[in-house]
Amino acid sequence: MGGTDVTVIGLGDMGRALASALVAAGHHTTVWNRSADKADELVAQGAVRAASVEEALSASPLTLVCLIDYEVTRTLLDPMSETLRGRTLVQLSNGTPEQARSLEAWATGQGAGYLDGGIMAVPGTIATPEAFVLYSGTEEHSTAHRPVFEVFGSAKHLGSDTGLASLYDLALLSGMDYLFAGFFHAVAVATSHKDVTAAGFTELLVPWLTNMAHQLPALAADVDSDGEPAYTQGLDVLLAAARNMAQAARDAGVRAEYFDRAAADLERQLAECGKEFTASGAVRALRVPGVSGDRA
Ligand code: NDP
Repeated sequence: MGGTDVTVIGLGDMGRALASALVAAGHHTTVWNRSADKADELVAQGAVRAASVEEALSASPLTLVCLIDYEVTRTLLDPMSETLRGRTLVQLSNGTPEQARSLEAWATGQGAGYLDGGIMAVPGTIATPEAFVLYSGTEEHSTAHRPVFEVFGSAKHLGSDTGLASLYDLALLSGMDYLFAGFFHAVAVATSHKDVTAAGFTELLVPWLTNMAHQLPALAADVDSDGEPAYTQGLDVLLAAARNMAQAARDAGVRAEYFDRAAADLERQLAECGKEFTASGAVRALRVPGVSGDRA
């Protein structure tokens, strides 16, 4: 094997997919997991099982962490300060931007390099063209380890603020969650009729949502621009539709809270912001007054 030495800590569904891809790509791969038997198949493929976290970290200049969360990560790594010195740690577990920045501060305080990552894939799409993984933190670490990162899919370095990968990751997941929630709501309403099947309805939902998704770049351009918006619509038209969607859901025996809230938000916007829907107005309406996040 000629590849770089890499350690993977955490062999859940995702960690096993990452480690397996590394072995297949020819990287000398050391693995550790709390439940040691999850390494069996990887060892059969050519990975090396470490007996402890310390042994796993010591085996490689680069360690990828893929655990349930940051708390477990800190519990495992806290006693490892000496071992981490001079090595690079990449946290791929799901977490918030603040957790990423705090782990970076801790890791660099131990003399380790640190990158934070967000995996935009499921285990079955790792190492396929569908997968992309987001990274943030010191660019020189990203560049140095790019050949390893590219094993998993395309590697996107977002910037030097370590919180960026988590911010994008959670925002992308938010978009996905709303999409799936919308799908389940739509199916519940449509299949309240005895003649409608979920599969038949979905044959129309997919092209409809695909067409709508193509509108997003134009809306995003309006959000970014200070000029005249390219897309506008009457808020009163949207309000009437939201009220109808709430009523149709209720009539179908489906919970209508989302559309009741949407209608109330539109009523508030009509009262406070004028008659027109714009993409930037919709984003502004979501912001909590007095909290600027990282925009300040
Ligand atoms: P799993 O539930 O399959 O694995 C969880 C991992 O965390 C296991 O290695 C588990 O060890 C370990 N773990 C949990 N609690 C402890 C503990 N107290 N001490 C030590 N180890 C612990 O999750 P996934 O592999 O699916 O997810 C891992 C990360 O990857 C998550 O942050 C997830 O959000 C992210 N991810 C997952 C995706 C997916 O589709 N699965 C997609 C994108 C990101 P043990 O085996 O011993 O229980």
